[in-house]
Amino acid sequence: PPAWVRRTEQYDTQALQALDSAHFIHPFTDHGDLATRGARVITRAEGVYIWDSEGEKLLDAMSGLWCVNVGYGRKELADAAYQQMMTLPFYNSFFQTTNVPAVKLAARLASLAPEVDGRSFQHVFYSSSGSESNDSNVRMVRRYWDLLGQPQRKVIISRLNAYHGSTMAGASLGGMSGMHAQGDLPIPKITHIGQPYFFENGLPGESEAEFGLRAAGWLEAKIVEVGADKVAAFIAEPIQGAGGVIIPPATYWPEIQRIVDKYNILLVSDEVICAFGRLGHWFAYEKFGYKPDLVTFAKAVTSGYIPLGGVMVGDRVAKVLIEKGGEFNHGYTYSGHPVACAVGLANLAIMEREQLPQRVRDDIGPYLARGFEKIAEHALVGVAETCGFTAGLVLVKNKKRRERFAEALGVGMMCRGHCFQNGLIMRAVGDRMIIAPPLTMTHDDIDEMLRLIRQALDLTQQELHQKGLI
Ligand code: PMP
Repeated sequence: PPAWVRRTEQYDTQALQALDSAHFIHPFTDHGDLATRGARVITRAEGVYIWDSEGEKLLDAMSGLWCVNVGYGRKELADAAYQQMMTLPFYNSFFQTTNVPAVKLAARLASLAPEVDGRSFQHVFYSSSGSESNDSNVRMVRRYWDLLGQPQRKVIISRLNAYHGSTMAGASLGGMSGMHAQGDLPIPKITHIGQPYFFENGLPGESEAEFGLRAAGWLEAKIVEVGADKVAAFIAEPIQGAGGVIIPPATYWPEIQRIVDKYNILLVSDEVICAFGRLGHWFAYEKFGYKPDLVTFAKAVTSGYIPLGGVMVGDRVAKVLIEKGGEFNHGYTYSGHPVACAVGLANLAIMEREQLPQRVRDDIGPYLARGFEKIAEHALVGVAETCGFTAGLVLVKNKKRRERFAEALGVGMMCRGHCFQNGLIMRAVGDRMIIAPPLTMTHDDIDEMLRLIRQALDLTQQELHQKGLI
């Protein structure tokens, strides 16, 4: 590692925390809480580890926020940004101009998106984040139906416990009740159906396959309820990320495809987390075999080194928008930002050279799955499942009866605390503990991560015992 990685930390943590608390409004943060505890100040990172201002080293099993797929400390990405900044740091792509990295990246992304049944993705619309991209999706979907002379088709169906971002449209598409409760959301003409979460919603005696068909059937029921001629699109994550790594049964996606085809509605695959190798493919719709019309991407397109997002626009929509549409009154200052696109190109080159999607599919994905089979045996674990290089487990009070803890106990946060204290970053979604580590992890890294997870489970179990909760 470079010399600065080994440098002793010389930060005044308390002074930084005081300034932080005085001036920085954090996303998704209770500031009362933050003021009393003080934020952890993350100062540097290398490989799969991050360090804080106290010199503590943590194994980052969340890849930052599901994005640092190639790991930290990649000089190539810094060099790409430096070179591009010195050549052309910015120019817009409005009004008949373009730039070299944006063109090259669009062509590269089009070549990576697999064609299904003759439907391909030849076009990219750029933004700087997943939220913005989903706002663009709403604009594109509604414009599409207007151009086809069906302006009554405006309703977009999504799912409860989905995450599609934090802007007005993103949070509305998402199905998080806590987000809807703030700011009068959802905005009009967005409606939700249940999620395909077997552990939580499967009925006694119902097989996972049966449940998958029943959960997909909620889409058809909603289309009929809204009126088939009013529905514009269905949007979903291939597997729900922020909702807790919810992996749908194998029967779910084929049935969803049958339903969207039957009613001729657009299908939007939000792959902000799932694309770029996370599930063992460049794009996740390939894994599940469905045929989206629009694909949202962000995060790992640059491995999070610089903000970039966008939408892969399939032929069906592109043909109408481009050939019939005239000017599309939508775009961002940073749509096709040359530096972000240059970093994106360099990042995809690393992923390709190191064959990261294939590595997830053939090597580290199955290795993680085997490790999680053992984790599933832990007395505190009700279910443990993986998909590609992401995983989730549910903490339960009684394994045999699948009895859950009371939500108010905050057992997930308790477990998360033990992870953080012992050098592991793992996220808690209620009592579901989740990971999405960098795709560069070695088998030794994975073994170490599994050891830390087991240790956190043991310590959580001890604490629950001591408190008389199990
Ligand atoms: N869609 C999905 C599926 C996501 O996971 C996220 C972010 N976690 C977003 C959209 C929003 O992306 P951003 O935070 O970049 O706006």
